[in-house]
Amino acid sequence: MKVLKVDHIGIAVKSIDETRKLYHDLLGLEHAGNETVQEQKVTTAFFPVGDTEVELLESTAPDGPIAKYLEKRGEGVQHIAFRVENIEEALAELKAKGIQLIDEKPRKGAGGAQIAFLHPKSTYGVLVELCQRDD
Ligand code: ZN
Repeated sequence: MKVLKVDHIGIAVKSIDETRKLYHDLLGLEHAGNETVQEQKVTTAFFPVGDTEVELLESTAPDGPIAKYLEKRGEGVQHIAFRVENIEEALAELKAKGIQLIDEKPRKGAGGAQIAFLHPKSTYGVLVELCQRDD
């Protein structure tokens, strides 16, 4: 498998509107827009910076994964996403080497990416997302 770069850093927030004041108004990052991924009960906002992006994650429902995360851990860095050349191949290889997968198969993420998460139990406490973009 080949990791190409840190695609983005996912940050769980209570309010994108509120947090935007930091990333856009104070840090001066471009706000590339919001996207709601209904299946995940999440709205994402992307702020490109250099060769990577900050992804803010706000829950759209009290029972969504981000709402649950905020309840348990509060606001903060939620995951790190590595862009890979071939996500199916990466998942198969990691699984064969004993890494516990949250997603056995890639699913649709924001921006038309294919994404899959690795279990933090297998990755020293970090929720790792793999993503593949065909752009
Ligand atoms: Zn992400």
